[in-house]
Parts: sequence; C-alpha cells; structure tokens
Amino acid sequence: MSKITISELTKVYAGNETALHGVDLTVKDGELLVLVGPSGCGKSTLLPMIAGLESITTGTIAIDDEVVNEVESAQRDISMVFQNYVLYPHMTVRGNLEYGLKNREVLAEEGNRMVDDAARILEIEPYLDRKPSFLSGGQHQRGAMGRALVRQPRAFLFDEPLSNLDAQLRGHMRLEIRNLQRRLKTTSVFVTHDQLEAMTLADTLVVMKAGRIEQMGTPFEVHSNPATTFVAKFIGSPGMNIVPRAEIGTEAGDLTTLPSEHGFLGFRPEPIKFGWTDIDGLKLNAEIEGVEVLGSELLVHLNLAGVKDTIVAKVDTNPSFPITGPIEFEVTLSDLYSFDG
Ligand code: ADP
Repeated sequence: MSKITISELTKVYAGNETALHGVDLTVKDGELLVLVGPSGCGKSTLLPMIAGLESITTGTIAIDDEVVNEVESAQRDISMVFQNYVLYPHMTVRGNLEYGLKNREVLAEEGNRMVDDAARILEIEPYLDRKPSFLSGGQHQRGAMGRALVRQPRAFLFDEPLSNLDAQLRGHMRLEIRNLQRRLKTTSVFVTHDQLEAMTLADTLVVMKAGRIEQMGTPFEVHSNPATTFVAKFIGSPGMNIVPRAEIGTEAGDLTTLPSEHGFLGFRPEPIKFGWTDIDGLKLNAEIEGVEVLGSELLVHLNLAGVKDTIVAKVDTNPSFPITGPIEFEVTLSDLYSFDG
C-alpha cells in the first residue's frame, strides 16, 4: 500500500539544463500511472528521482506522506525495471530471482515461496534453471521483471522496459504487465514515448512536454478531451488534425460555434467522411496527396487549399471513391474541437 506525492519538483542538471519545471503529481495507491511524452520532455529524469538515484533540485517527493528527499535509495523500497535491465549471466534465472531477495535477508523458506510465486505469475517456471543466454528476449525480460517482483516493493518504476522487444512480443508483454499490475495492485509508474503503449496500460495518463505536465487524466479523458493542441496531436494514431482557423475558408460550413480567427480547429482522422451530405459541420474540398495501406484501414493524406499542413483521414480499405485527385469531405459538428490561439 503506497501513494507517491510529488510537489513542485524541479531538476536542473549541471550545465543549467532544466529538465523539470515544478512538477505536481500524485500516484494513487495501487494504480498504474503512465508518463508519456516526446524525447527530452523529462519523463526519464523523474523516475530515478523517485527511486532516489538522482538528486532533487527543489521540491519534495513523499511516499505515504513521508517526505523521502533525504532517504537513501535502498531504504525507499522501490523496484525499478529498465529498458536494458539484464539478468546476471553467470546465474540461472532462479539464482537471479533469489539474488533479488538476498539483500533483504528473507528467510530461506519464505524466499523460496516468493521466487516460486513470481515464477508462476510470470510463467517462467520452465526456465528457472536456465542461464540467461538460453532465454528468448521475452523470457529474459520476464526474468528481469521477476527479480523486481520478488522484492514485493512498495512501488514499481518502469523505464521503457519494452523498447528493445519486437512489435509482437511488445504487445504481448504490455498485456502481461497490465494484468500483473492489476493482480498485485502495486503502485506503479511507467515511462514510455509510445502513446499507444501509454493508452493501453494507464489507469492515469500524464502527458509531458518540455519538463512540464501538459495534461493528466484517464486515457479516455485525455483522448476525448485534449486540453491543448500538443496533446491532441500527440495522442491517437495518427493524432488529431489541427488547422489554424484563419487558414480555412469561409465557405467551410456552419462554423459559428468554432474558434475565433486566432484559434485552431481540430478533428480526428477517424470521423472524416468523404462526400458531402446535409449534416451540420465542416465541409471542405481537398486534393488527395497519397495513401498508406495499414491492412484493414487506409490513411488518406489530403491537401486543403490555403492550409499549410496535410490532413490525414483514416478510412476502411476498398473505399467507394478513387484514391487520387480532388475530393470533398466533411466532419460533423460534434466531432470538431476548438482550441484557443
Ligand atoms: P526523456 O526521458 O523525456 O527523453 P530526459 O528526462 O532524459 O527526457 O531529459 C530531459 C532533459 O534533461 C533533456 O533536455 C536532456 O537533455 C536533459 N538531461 C537528461 N539527463 C541529463 C544529464 N545527465 N545532464 C544534463 N542534462 C540532462
């Protein structure tokens, strides 16, 4: 049972690089919180600070209401799983898991039970007596998680632990981590640059940009109600189309409810419909620039007269229109977003 409370946390590295500008964040007891953002936004700086491996410039970190700024890493009782977290090559998987325990002076019998439990949960029982060089990438990663797990820490911190795995295994391990965390209910913070991974894992999603929190909420809240154009573009695959209001012509439909001249108009790639009907909404002429086939879906890249950036529409394959040349499209009013300038 543990809650992590981060207050007005800043991090300035030597050389005056400010990685965090006053971050406020609470990781609730038992939840999986995911920090997501582009490279350099400060997400990986935050984890070692929570673990006590990186110094705090100003602000506080508390675990269960006890400020731990001055508490040594080993005393914080937190397990961290890294991208390149390796098992000791000269030990078997069981040896590696037991090593995770040994430093904590667990009784022999109790230790065995914890190793067996972790192995069962992670489904690595058949590999317990193998050395790491005889494991596949996924088995190795599970072994590494097992070593973190046997400690039964107050919290887990995951720093892009799946980045080195191939796409299929990554998807599988993502699901395993999700299920495991739900079962153990250990408070966890997971860092990734991959918005899809973030969306599928998170109880709470925190989008970061340049050392600040841009938005925090459930994945559904953040996706359906993005606070800024940055979040709107970052979340979604692909992200939301954002067009300066001023670049859209006046013949674009009933835009009376939409932003002023200085604002931005947003619409996701999925609700775009080709052809005009009598719905209320945005109706535009476009030129198809190119098409990407994703399997069961197509991404259609569109140029609009006067609009600088390309628009992307996601449609089912075998559309009922030629995928080249000029085309009309529309977006209903309820699928349009408006952002301030
Ligand atoms: P992310 O994990 O989101 O990619 P980081 O937390 O690694 O971002 O980095 C945030 C910022 O801090 C970046 O501008 C990075 O260059 C800087 N930074 C990270 N580590 C160091 C360091 N050891 N010394 C100086 N600057 C650093």
